[in-house]
Amino acid sequence: MLDPSLSSELLIGKLRESGVKDERVLEAFRKVPRHLFVDNPVQAYDDIALSIGYGQTISQPTLVAQMTELLNLGKDQKILEIGTGSGFQTAILSQFSRRVFTIERHKELGDKARLRLREMGYANVTFKVGDGTCGWRQYSPFDRIIVTAGAPVTPESLSNQLAVGGIMVIPTGDKAMQELMVYTKTENGLESRSEGAVVFVPLIGQHGWKE
Ligand code: SAM
Repeated sequence: MLDPSLSSELLIGKLRESGVKDERVLEAFRKVPRHLFVDNPVQAYDDIALSIGYGQTISQPTLVAQMTELLNLGKDQKILEIGTGSGFQTAILSQFSRRVFTIERHKELGDKARLRLREMGYANVTFKVGDGTCGWRQYSPFDRIIVTAGAPVTPESLSNQLAVGGIMVIPTGDKAMQELMVYTKTENGLESRSEGAVVFVPLIGQHGWKE
């Protein structure tokens, strides 16, 4: 790996080339050192998904940036993330928001991410190990919901926990390929659009894929 800050700048160049325009998203990538979220830092700043163990991955940086941009984040929002994984996306979200709630179904990954983010000083994140397909009713409604694993359909349990005016980004489709769906909740219900094809590990749980 080159010097991390140089590697990070090269990655940010790739994010720009891929169409990411929001300077706040690019700045968040500058601040979060991706090499501290992976076991082998050599490829940490390549624009690829990497294994984090347990058959799971830290998502491709361009996808993390695209999903963050689609959330159109503002300062005082409450965000729910499903699929903590390494905690990298969580750390990016925490740069923007008042409070981030994140759920991971693998205890080992959830615990590791919690420790990592605590050590790095991210104080506005609340962690839970459990089935994120049920959401986190205690803290709902959320201004933003981001799901970083592929669901067969959008769980109603999650759309019910989205605030009016809120945005949810979620990949839905079959196990091999999904569409990146963006939902906006209005007084009259959910408006949706697709942002194209993506590939994620499956969202497993009561309102997702069965194990
Ligand atoms: N955003 C993560 C990062 O930056 O490292 C990558 C997430 S990885 C692509 C998807 C994660 O979703 C995996 O860690 C997986 O265990 C988790 N997952 C799958 N189903 C879940 C569920 N029902 N609830 C919570 N987490 C789930």
